Amino acid sequence: MTAKSHRNDGRLKIAIQKSGRLSEKSFALLEKAGISLQKSKDQLLCRARNFPLDIFLVRDDDIPAFLTNQVCQLGIIGQNTLLETQLLEAETYGGLSQVIELGFGRCRLSIAVPNDMPYDGLDSLAGRTIATSYRGLLAAFLAERGVEANIVTMEGAVEVAPRTHLADAICDLVSTGNTLISNGLAEQDIILQSQAVIIQNNDMQDDLRSLCETILVRINAVLRAERSRYIMLNSPVSVLDEIKAVLPGSQSPTVMPLQGNDDMVAVHAVCDEEVFWSTMEALKDRGASSILVVPIEKMLD
Ligand code: ATP
Ligand code: ZN
Repeated sequence: MTAKSHRNDGRLKIAIQKSGRLSEKSFALLEKAGISLQKSKDQLLCRARNFPLDIFLVRDDDIPAFLTNQVCQLGIIGQNTLLETQLLEAETYGGLSQVIELGFGRCRLSIAVPNDMPYDGLDSLAGRTIATSYRGLLAAFLAERGVEANIVTMEGAVEVAPRTHLADAICDLVSTGNTLISNGLAEQDIILQSQAVIIQNNDMQDDLRSLCETILVRINAVLRAERSRYIMLNSPVSVLDEIKAVLPGSQSPTVMPLQGNDDMVAVHAVCDEEVFWSTMEALKDRGASSILVVPIEKMLD
């Protein structure tokens, strides 16, 4: 256990992005976990009304430092930012770990070249210049594959580098690919698939650690409920096994008699996966009727 620092007022501190692609979903996730926040996004600190927790609203790049300096215990950040920070400063940021993948903020870090540049695999980049904000990840990727290229670090607007002759190619975050297309660039190699994650400083004081566990259990429950569905249907007794086999990701459905109809039963199940129209059609084809699929709001084992 670490000595109690002056910063420990018994309240858990979480750092999230102040404004940007991760902010809204980070806020929404905490609210779904039952944290009621006084929403004033202009300030640095936002206190929860009903839980000993404060939210720090900062630039995403600063989140790792807020954790390693013990100002915050948890943070929400893109894997791309975490890994890049850890590659550049392994000693400082090695004690941070990813604890939950959140499923939003999905993107990939890719190498892209101008449409008119002949490209025949990574060797085409040998001796060329590549512009990026992810020097650490790009250098590691190229070194592993034995490709020697020059790297130019840019803070933003990396996609204009080839047009301005600052670089031959780029390495940047891509989600839809529209930015690349409108800049005449073709995506060639994916370096990393990324999403938002909760990160934790492994070195934490005991009183905060138990608050942290409570909040992480809640967040895991929120994520599980979000991907799960409750399904209800009526099934002829004769095809019950076939119906059960089609139910996606459900362990043990509840089977109940239907009053006044000995040949039919009601089946209720929690499905751990998305229920597609095709699944419902498959259930119907096997004899199921009155099929209802409903979202689950909260779930705790
Ligand atoms: P800040 O002002 O906090 O430094 P930023 O400009 O660095 O903001 P954003 O553009 O808001 O950051 O992106 C935050 C994170 O969102 C990225 O690090 C990445 O994990 C994720 N992301 C998802 N899709 C994309 C995308 N198409 N381009 C960039 N980032 C994306
Ligand atoms: Zn940033």
